[in-house]
Amino acid sequence: MSIPFIDLKTQYQQVEASVRAGIDRVLGHGAYIMGPEIAELEERLSSFCAVRHAVGCASGTDALVMALMAFEVGPGDAVFTTPFTFMATAEAIALLGATPVFVDIDPVTFNIDPDELRRKIGEVKDTRKDLIPKGVIAVDLFGQPADYARIEPVAHNNGLFLIVDAAQSFGATYKGKPVCSLGDVACTSFFPAKPLGCYGDGGMLFAHNDAMHKLLVSIRVHGMGEDKYENVRLGINGRLDSIQAAVLLAKFAIFPGEIEKRQQVADRYAALLDDIDGLTVPTVSEGNTSVWAQYSVLARDAAHKDALMGRLRAADIPTAIYYPKPLHLQKAFAGLKYGKGDFPVSENVAGRIFSLPMHPYLSGQDQEAVAAAMKG
Ligand SMILES: *Cc1c(COP(=O)(O)O)cnc(C)c1O
Repeated sequence: MSIPFIDLKTQYQQVEASVRAGIDRVLGHGAYIMGPEIAELEERLSSFCAVRHAVGCASGTDALVMALMAFEVGPGDAVFTTPFTFMATAEAIALLGATPVFVDIDPVTFNIDPDELRRKIGEVKDTRKDLIPKGVIAVDLFGQPADYARIEPVAHNNGLFLIVDAAQSFGATYKGKPVCSLGDVACTSFFPAKPLGCYGDGGMLFAHNDAMHKLLVSIRVHGMGEDKYENVRLGINGRLDSIQAAVLLAKFAIFPGEIEKRQQVADRYAALLDDIDGLTVPTVSEGNTSVWAQYSVLARDAAHKDALMGRLRAADIPTAIYYPKPLHLQKAFAGLKYGKGDFPVSENVAGRIFSLPMHPYLSGQDQEAVAAAMKG
């Protein structure tokens, strides 16, 4: 049997009874929209993340859109983010008519480079009279927290908000703090393949103060006021389904154990792949933890990457590339007028990176098979 890239079947065997019971409960009470499971999940996850408020929503993308709407982002606003991320991060900015301004990444963590961020904010202030710097979206790529101790002062000293895109890092910690307790608002995704996934689309926002919580709750349901047929602002239909919340409640029970297992898998890979010439295995910055949404390795160059991926393919071992093309080179953002060479670190990494099978149930034996295939 071939090794799955992400093994949701084995995970389902652990939670089958409680998932079925949770879904049955929803079918019994019939409150498919905003049922009691939503508040229960928000309560559990906000307390897990040590943050005052959580707001369930329909996806990680909607979480980002809702957070940007709460900060009244619109045309003429610049929001700084990384080009080496999933499309949704920059797409959310552009959907609101604002301008994503890309900032190159750190070559080790693949997260936004705080020095480059400072430089880029200054550059926009000096040379782009058509743009008002408004905020920053930092992304915790592959599950590893961005460098918040350096990013937050750069954002706040420039009067910018900081949104944490924790779609890949829910459950990770930065200097002992859960990532969703960082920034002004944190956003996560429960897409099935994320570290904590549901059985469809889902997401959540995390906020510190009551005013932001109230705003997000209103934006989630068409800008509702005191009741849902009073509309005090524009919003969206951004609700999380009760059935998905029931699935998440069941899966959350085993999530802390899964985070530990993911770390063990990462440690085993690091030991097994250590002696492959020209290969760089991922490292986590001192004092932080990752939830290893992906285990992404860097080959020496593109040819070395193709050779390693070819050997894995021949051994029937799945791989993936996150991400082959940085966002500044995507056709959807052609209007931003970026070109090749604008973000050299992102472009270099995009040509050398690929990801190996990673999930909590990956056996040592399977990992040995991955390593053996790579060593040819
Ligand atoms: C998955 C992801 C999103 C979007 O989440 P969805 O739930 O798929 O909408 C946003 N940002 C990053 C970094 C992601 O990995």
